Amino acid sequence: MTLINRLCGVVTALAVTLQFNANAEAGAPQQKTQAPAYYRLMLGEYEVTALSDGTFQMDADKILTNITPKELEASLARSFLKNPVETSVNGFLINTGSKLVLIDTGSGTLFGPTLGKLLSNLKASGYRPEQVDEIYISHMHGDHVGGLSADGKPVFPNAIVRAAQQEADFWLSKAHMDAAPQERKDAYQGAMNMLNPYVSADKFKPFDGDTELVPGIRAAASHGHTPGHTVYVVESKGQKLVLWGDLMHVAAVQFPDPAVTILYDTDPAKAASQRKRVFADAAGQNEWVAGAHLSFPGIGHLRTAGSGYTFVPVNYGALP
Ligand SMILES: [Zn+2]
Repeated sequence: MTLINRLCGVVTALAVTLQFNANAEAGAPQQKTQAPAYYRLMLGEYEVTALSDGTFQMDADKILTNITPKELEASLARSFLKNPVETSVNGFLINTGSKLVLIDTGSGTLFGPTLGKLLSNLKASGYRPEQVDEIYISHMHGDHVGGLSADGKPVFPNAIVRAAQQEADFWLSKAHMDAAPQERKDAYQGAMNMLNPYVSADKFKPFDGDTELVPGIRAAASHGHTPGHTVYVVESKGQKLVLWGDLMHVAAVQFPDPAVTILYDTDPAKAASQRKRVFADAAGQNEWVAGAHLSFPGIGHLRTAGSGYTFVPVNYGALP
């Protein structure tokens, strides 16, 4: 081998090494997306699909009440969190075999681009909005009713919408909106914009108190967070799931201390007592629970821990 040939070999090897290093440094582009956010489990014979509407940054420091800033910081730190807390918004789709029931609808366009994803996740999960037979609303805050309508038309054209009569009386009343302070008027208007397309099509059917809505699903009054706040109980083949709506908002804080309340409670004392009652039931009966603001998919069990509770998220599972 001549000196020239040997030098050429060294130069080529060097070039390959440099190229390899350059590629390694550039790396694969980061994708920065999550998988479509739906999660399924079977409850007896019923199929339950948790649907994510997205997340938002909750300024717990400003909106949680009946807790000191120091206590809040300590509670969040125990869960490796700090304020603001990234918080899920979840809805739940129940297929009983004869009815397809959606419980809460997410935010639609009411709360910006990090939310409003429930519809696309419902589609990603294999269903179409026109297949939904019934929609049960835990309460009429925007992050629960915002997905009902778009541009003044129902998003779920074949669905009957149901909520507690007290909730309808409170949020769909123009007199209440007119009497409300300026900063609260939008909440009434949002509820009206979302519900009224169903009201005028005669597809809104409020109920009064604890009521069976379809076989296997019943409403259970838990008024306090709002005047008609309702949890929904799903039962099949001896298995039970209680869908909490906004019975609680910040897991890291309100499981250890259910007395912590939130600025948006219309009756904070009543909201706290309902939370304590439903938590005690859940822990005592070993039932499944699901929360609109529990970290997605927001399904699990509760057990007692000292004077409070620990939430045990569902174990990931394939479907049969
Ligand atoms: Zn909410």
